Amino acid sequence: MAAQSEGSAEEIKGLRRCINDLVSMLALPAAWMGGEPLRIMGNLLDALLSMLSLDFLYVRLKNTADAATGEMVRISPTWAVKPGPQEMGERLRTSVDDDFQESPLLLSNFFVEGDITLVPLRLGLHDDLGIIIAGSRRSDFPQQTERLLLNVAANEAAVWLREASLLSEERRVSSELDRRVAQRTADLAAINDELQREIAERKSAEEKFLREETELKRSQAHKAAILDSSLDCIVAMDHQGCITEFNPAAERVFGYKRENVLGKPLAHVLIPPSLRQQHHLGFAHHLATGESRVLGKRLEMTALCADGREIPVEIAIARIQQDGPPSFTGYLRDITARKQNEDALLEAHTRLAQSEERWRSVFESSAIGVALADLEGRFIATNPVFQKMLGYTEQEFEQLHFLDITVEEDRDLNSALVADLLDGKRREFEIEKQYRRKNGSLVSVRNSVSVVSGSDRVPRFLLALSEDVTRRHLAEAALDKARSELAHVARVTALSALTASIAHEVNQPLSGIVTNASTCLRMLDADPPNVEGARETARRTIRDGNRASDVITRLRALFGKKSTPFELFDLNEAAQEVIALSVSELQRNRVTLQSNLATDLPSVLGDRIQVQQVILNLIRNGLDAMSTVEDRQRELLVMTERDEGGGARLSVTDSGVGIDPQIEEKLFEPFHTTKGDGMGIGLSVSRSIMESHQGRLWAARNEGPGATFSFVLPSSTNT
Ligand code: ADP
Repeated sequence: MAAQSEGSAEEIKGLRRCINDLVSMLALPAAWMGGEPLRIMGNLLDALLSMLSLDFLYVRLKNTADAATGEMVRISPTWAVKPGPQEMGERLRTSVDDDFQESPLLLSNFFVEGDITLVPLRLGLHDDLGIIIAGSRRSDFPQQTERLLLNVAANEAAVWLREASLLSEERRVSSELDRRVAQRTADLAAINDELQREIAERKSAEEKFLREETELKRSQAHKAAILDSSLDCIVAMDHQGCITEFNPAAERVFGYKRENVLGKPLAHVLIPPSLRQQHHLGFAHHLATGESRVLGKRLEMTALCADGREIPVEIAIARIQQDGPPSFTGYLRDITARKQNEDALLEAHTRLAQSEERWRSVFESSAIGVALADLEGRFIATNPVFQKMLGYTEQEFEQLHFLDITVEEDRDLNSALVADLLDGKRREFEIEKQYRRKNGSLVSVRNSVSVVSGSDRVPRFLLALSEDVTRRHLAEAALDKARSELAHVARVTALSALTASIAHEVNQPLSGIVTNASTCLRMLDADPPNVEGARETARRTIRDGNRASDVITRLRALFGKKSTPFELFDLNEAAQEVIALSVSELQRNRVTLQSNLATDLPSVLGDRIQVQQVILNLIRNGLDAMSTVEDRQRELLVMTERDEGGGARLSVTDSGVGIDPQIEEKLFEPFHTTKGDGMGIGLSVSRSIMESHQGRLWAARNEGPGATFSFVLPSSTNT
């Protein structure tokens, strides 16, 4: 009885422990929620090992994702060896039959010494989830409670494994779903991107199209504007020869309205009747063969205007490069003005050629020598007279400088005068000098030299007109005679100025004669007559008479030449003659003379020779006044001009010492001179000549150095 109750108590205790273990076991799944199968099994094996004092627990799970981790083992701490899950699994698979699942199995020396009882526990209805194998060396193993506990544990595990499997499947499905959603989303995004790209491409294509369309419109508008604003006439024509375009310039030039000519054959509108046949043939030939004699060239022809006029035009026809039947554009320019210009140019050219020919014939046939030299003084051209005068050919002259043929003594003066010309100080100069001929002999020439202003085509050059004056020098003797004639007139005129003193001289002996004769009579009438006194007075009378006679003889000798009668003459001519007479004297004195003679000078009435004598006297006085001048040019200007009163005025301006203030007051009175060899009667004679001509002579100081002596003669119509 006692043993019975003891056994019951033990049983109760065992049952209670079993119940406790069951409760603990049933509490386990609370921690398994959402867990991994291996973690669930690990947890379960740990709990069972500690509850049932087993030697080992092995689990093999099927359908787990990772077969390697589908086995698990828990070994009792009492074991000295610690086989791993795979080693344990291998041993179990070789030692245990498949049907061992039905009942406990006894094995010997399974890893440890002695017997060990193995209890298989199926997981799932047909082991579909796996198997748990519990092993214990206890001989009472498995007790009923242990079996119960192991079965409950296996069932719990199966439930939760399935749960976990479902959960895992759910997760897998869910993640697959997520993956698919993500894949789909990515695909959609890619499609979307593609679509966006396509849209962008389409948009850019549309924009490009719009741009091109705008550009096309703009280009068309631009072309239309070019067509409209072109100064050239633009006329387009189709393959049938009909007008398809006619721009405003064409309307202006040809006078047709665009709307009236569009569609009409060009040949009937612009081409003059005389050229139509040719046009038709040429056009047909081109259409048939592609050949053309007018395409791509500039041609001149005539075009027909609306009013029937035919005008010269320059045309350029181009074939328009495009598909379909050919069409053509013609560019036409009215060249009426150009033609006229060309005609005018041709005429001008002919005139120029004629003028050049005339000039050349003047140059060639001139009676005096003509030489052209560059500004350096090298000969450019010479005429036959010049060549003959010097004995050089034209080609030889081209190698020479004018100084090469000028004698040494004349070179400095000549060079200085040329320098003045080039500096613009004088417009021309005259020089008498000597050239050395090619054969070495000398020739005296009188040169008039000037600068000829150049043009676009011809640079400035020097022009020398050269006259051989050898013959003229021969004539100078005759001129000297003329000069002495003038001097004689001067003397005569001077004597007229001296009339007062001469009269005085004659008067004296005359009154002496009268007085002596009266005294003589008185002495003879005395009583007795004073014969000796009368003789003496008679002697004195004779002496006085002789004296008077001498005076008269002298006067007769001086007045021997008769003065010439007044005549009408040209003062310029008279002055030029005097200048010509003075040239050599001027040159001797290194004086350059410039004459400035008025062209509108009235002719004057008077004694030409007397007036020339006055001019000569003024020129000589000018020369004398400059004879001591060394620091400046010795220049003499002879000028004639029409006087305000209608008369003719002549003035001689020098650059000499000027009028001496000491004699300024008495300049025109006789016997006032500042010259050692002067008589001082030139100016007084000149003034008296002027007065006898109702003219006037006066002197004035220059603003610069020198003096100006002028006279004016009334014009012939005033006298
Ligand atoms: P002559 O020439 O013999 O002296 P004129 O009657 O011709 O006699 O001249 C009188 C004087 O007048 C000269 O001595 C000179 O002093 C002055 N005279 C004349 N012409 C000029 C002149 N161009 N410049 C300066 N003084 C002059």
